[in-house]
Amino acid sequence: MSRNRLIHAQSPFAIILGCSDSRVPAELVFGLGLGDLFVIRVAGNIVAPSQIGSIEFAAEKFSTHLVVVMGHSLCGAVEATLEQLQQPTDNRSPNLRAIVDRISPAVESLVKFDAKSSSGDNTPMITPELLDQAVRSNIKASVDKLHQGSEILKALIKNDKLLIMGAEYFLETGEVEFFSS
Ligand SMILES: [Zn+2]
Repeated sequence: MSRNRLIHAQSPFAIILGCSDSRVPAELVFGLGLGDLFVIRVAGNIVAPSQIGSIEFAAEKFSTHLVVVMGHSLCGAVEATLEQLQQPTDNRSPNLRAIVDRISPAVESLVKFDAKSSSGDNTPMITPELLDQAVRSNIKASVDKLHQGSEILKALIKNDKLLIMGAEYFLETGEVEFFSS
């Protein structure tokens, strides 16, 4: 849509909670333009109060009915969280720690399972399979948090005015896979 037609109004048809990664700008991924998407980007597509508030705002103000949590393959924030779980260090900034701490609950059981199934030498390693599973688990956790974390969103969902779903963008192919809810 042209910029002039959007000066006084907008009606984005979807709200995207995506990762800040430079390779996954939502509008470019979906081939869309100005006014199409209400996008919230944060490393690891985590859900904190400001993300929930942004979604509440857009869902109410613009009557946007669809929220997509879009994570992506090879996510650096998820990988950093796996590293932190395998080899905890204290020398992170509290701000970065706030992101890792929000991803950790979704992926720590995978790290424990992976440690049990590995061959016994104590070198931690993030396999591609572990990172894949962790990315998906983190997306699903964010979807769950949006379902649980807001009375406003709960009411919209109950009245069939909002659908929240997960999706993964694959850097390798440029494709987006939507998760069935
Ligand atoms: Zn990422």
